[in-house]
Amino acid sequence: MTYGIIVHGGAGDDYDDRLEEFQSGVAQAARAGWAVLAAGGSALDAVEAAVQVMEACPTFDAGEGSFLNQNGEIEMDAIIMDGSTLKSGSVAAIQRVQHPVHVARLVMEHTPHALIVGSGADAFARRMGIPAFVMSPAKQSEIPPSPSSQPGDTVGAVALDASGHLAVATSTGGTLGKLPGRVGDSPLVGSGAYADDLSGGASATGVGEHLMRIVISKSACDLMGQGQHPQQAAEAIMRRLEERVPGGIGGIILMDPQGRVGAAYNTHHMVHAWISSEQPLQVRG
Ligand code: ASP
Repeated sequence: MTYGIIVHGGAGDDYDDRLEEFQSGVAQAARAGWAVLAAGGSALDAVEAAVQVMEACPTFDAGEGSFLNQNGEIEMDAIIMDGSTLKSGSVAAIQRVQHPVHVARLVMEHTPHALIVGSGADAFARRMGIPAFVMSPAKQSEIPPSPSSQPGDTVGAVALDASGHLAVATSTGGTLGKLPGRVGDSPLVGSGAYADDLSGGASATGVGEHLMRIVISKSACDLMGQGQHPQQAAEAIMRRLEERVPGGIGGIILMDPQGRVGAAYNTHHMVHAWISSEQPLQVRG
């Protein structure tokens, strides 16, 4: 059977002069996820590995590269979801970790909870032995931005492993200049991500306040569950976003239980990459 991974580096309009940087970041992430799958690893391990590569890359609005909020601080949101059990783990407004996606996984695997926020999430990370991460001096000296409803360069990954299990992860620093405490779609089950072995996996990006109104990731998975090809489902869900949320901005990557992929967005770019047992690395967006 086919197995593989698809990743994205966020739906945005301001990439033009840095397109190669974004493309190389998503290619590296897809390769890291693929290495896990090719060695017989799980879809969960693959999406976590891929997202961690992008969280460590300052190009993206996640982990180290997270946009600052109005106080000049970073507050990150992340989710990971297992399509075989429908279990998920999320963190929101977490501040002092390098890899929010890893803390999300610990929430899923070591607590009875699905979402831990703010100082509670940071305290949980410390309890799990994760060292406090401090912003680089360059990041600390950035001027706090004014509020913007433009999406960032959120990252995400969907993978199908050789055992036929799907998993998804999404990680973000949120929108530029957001209010402290603001949480977007990314850590919300069904909005920023969804995975179900029976229908498919989805990771979304865009303006969270728009995407959550149509529960975009779960809605796209339902379309695949009804038999739509992931590309058809991705395009249909973007049409729904535009019809139901006037001015709605976003993008989505999808993979179905057969390992077929789809991607659609209504921004200038949504850099994405995929690799499967059938196809070598492809980079688009
Ligand atoms: N969806 C993210 C949020 O609203 C931003 C993004 O995708 O870039 O927090």
